[in-house]
Amino acid sequence: RRHGTVRGRFAPSPTGALHFGSLLAAFGSWLAARGAGGEWWIRIEDVDAAREVPGAAAMQLRTLAAFGLVHDGPVGYQSRRGHLYAAALARLLDAGLAFECHCSRSDVADAGGVHRSCRPGARRPDPAVRLRVTDGSRVAFDDAVHGRIAQDVDREVGDFVLRRADGWWAYQLAVVVDDADQGITDVVRGADLLDSTPRQLLLQHALGLPRPRYLHLPLVLDDDGHKLSKSSASLPVDAADPLPALRAAWHALGQDPHRLPASASLAATLAAAVRGFDAGRIPRGPLAATAVHNALA
Ligand code: GLU
Repeated sequence: RRHGTVRGRFAPSPTGALHFGSLLAAFGSWLAARGAGGEWWIRIEDVDAAREVPGAAAMQLRTLAAFGLVHDGPVGYQSRRGHLYAAALARLLDAGLAFECHCSRSDVADAGGVHRSCRPGARRPDPAVRLRVTDGSRVAFDDAVHGRIAQDVDREVGDFVLRRADGWWAYQLAVVVDDADQGITDVVRGADLLDSTPRQLLLQHALGLPRPRYLHLPLVLDDDGHKLSKSSASLPVDAADPLPALRAAWHALGQDPHRLPASASLAATLAAAVRGFDAGRIPRGPLAATAVHNALA
């Protein structure tokens, strides 16, 4: 990566087919990266085997290709990057910034779900490892869409898990290690992760890693206010006919419809989208699925 070059990424979890909400994150991150003349990488976040659907990652990659969202660099798979997470965890443990936690789920629940100290004498054969979040750990950052976001991580989250009791890596650790290792400068993703970002900033700081820029895209909610993934069947993304979904995503991102040519090839539409993309128009949302549905119809 040349100095100063933007590098974005899309980091889906392989839990099913790409739905409209994930297309929005893919297209939004692709537009932000390509619009800045930068690179766009794909990372499959398959750290949670229990949630993984066999074949989903390959299907997601095929759908992205069908949409013309071509990536740079090799596709990363978190399941093959455990050595990087182990090295980061060892550094944190050595520095006393992380600790083994023998508390049970109910111990943490008894403390209101916020872990701030271990129950005295708790012992288990398979301790989790948590980041030590010290008192007064207030973290703030400027999101390109949502503005200033601040969180008292000590009071609202507490010491958070880096390696689970069952041995699996926690998303928070994997994402921070990977974004730094892959040289990601711009994280563009759904607003459901806004409240994870302060934890990731604390981890970056503890590991001495650079802080990327952040842009959180509006969520698409169904009529009951649930995140779209719960009702993904109502808004499938048709890999055989990408243009209607791309147009709906363009609309959902608050972009000027006149910037896209009326009847054009996929390649011409994407090229016009890169030229016309304006991150300043992205709404904070959330967006109603019915409105997206109508735009798709
Ligand atoms: N894998 C996460 C998800 O699919 C996204 C992680 C990220 O973009 O930081 O929700």
